[in-house]
Amino acid sequence: MTVRDDQTRECVVCHAHKALSEFYADRGRRDGLRRQCKLCEHEGRSERKRAQTVAKNAAAEAERAERIANFRKACPDAKHLPRALTR
Ligand SMILES: [Zn+2]
Repeated sequence: MTVRDDQTRECVVCHAHKALSEFYADRGRRDGLRRQCKLCEHEGRSERKRAQTVAKNAAAEAERAERIANFRKACPDAKHLPRALTR
């Protein structure tokens, strides 16, 4: 069985089989390509950007600080903050 003639790979995000040209190069990977297609990569990026904007939002920041303060009040002996609070 040879797959050389139809060089496609499955995107780990949308699970579509796409041409290799639909994937960005990634030198850090053994096969030299990203595991998600360009489309999904773009989507993920805008998603992250949105998340960053929210994180920078002063109101969100204040809310987070308040949640941490509440947690500290409720669990004064906790050595670590729950992950949900440190994000
Ligand atoms: Zn995809």
